[in-house]
Amino acid sequence: MDQDFKDKVALVTGGGSGIGAAIAERLAERGASVMVADLNLEAAEEVVRSVVAAGGKASACVADVSSAIEVEAMVESVRSTFGALHFAVNNAGIAGPAAPTGEYPLDGWTKVIDTNLNSVFYGLRYQLPAIQQAGGGAIVNMASILGTVGFASSSAYVAAKHGVVGLTKAAAVEYAKHRVRVNSIGPGFIDTPLLSKNLDDQTLAHIRGLHPIGRLGTSDEVAALTLFLLSPAASFITGSYHLVDGGYTAV
Ligand code: NAP
Repeated sequence: MDQDFKDKVALVTGGGSGIGAAIAERLAERGASVMVADLNLEAAEEVVRSVVAAGGKASACVADVSSAIEVEAMVESVRSTFGALHFAVNNAGIAGPAAPTGEYPLDGWTKVIDTNLNSVFYGLRYQLPAIQQAGGGAIVNMASILGTVGFASSSAYVAAKHGVVGLTKAAAVEYAKHRVRVNSIGPGFIDTPLLSKNLDDQTLAHIRGLHPIGRLGTSDEVAALTLFLLSPAASFITGSYHLVDGGYTAV
């Protein structure tokens, strides 16, 4: 395994489950010291145990990414634990309520925007200066295919993910000169607890069929793209939005 993240420090939010857990594990396999941050400390600790069992370095911290104060403390905790921050993956997110826009619950809207969009701003707000201070690095923000196309009954999620794509571009333009690259990723529907918790079998079968590849994606397929974008192999890539969607948006 390439050790191209050796002596580097990475932070993954929502690292206790699904896509975030896969990213944390793959980063550690390639030599990074990884802070696994999640609302659910037990889940984050489980990922740390699996990293350490495989010979990697990781630590867990609890942080609610919808709180600016907790995100600031999370970034500080990375620096006090590992001495610096070079890479961040703003991955934590929720599906939110399913309802047409004209009936969308107001509190559900606020929760989804706080968790899926404001969280990414808070992340950038504290990660960018920390990474700049460490001499440079890269950030990946987890958007979705719904960062570029609509989906019925998901207006808050669609709006938040479109916002993540735009916010990524703004930060990338500002921080290129400070040697911090910032990109976003648009996964199609990925087989994680986020889907199994929120969708029934019939809906999942329908969704599978919307991907020309004919199946859901895996967390490892999203992790592979994330690691590429963070790695030196992507040194000329910043401000862009990258799909890993089995052809969903090509139809
Ligand atoms: P997941 O399996 O549900 O994992 C998300 C993790 O984030 C969970 O451990 C969750 O904790 C945690 N979390 C939720 N709210 C949080 C908060 N306020 N602060 C900190 N952590 C929080 O979801 P996933 O499918 O891996 O999704 C990861 C990211 O990919 C999300 O941004 C999602 O929108 C995006 N994405 C997913 C798909 C997909 O089809 N799965 C497609 C496109 C994009 P709890 O379990 O306690 O809630």
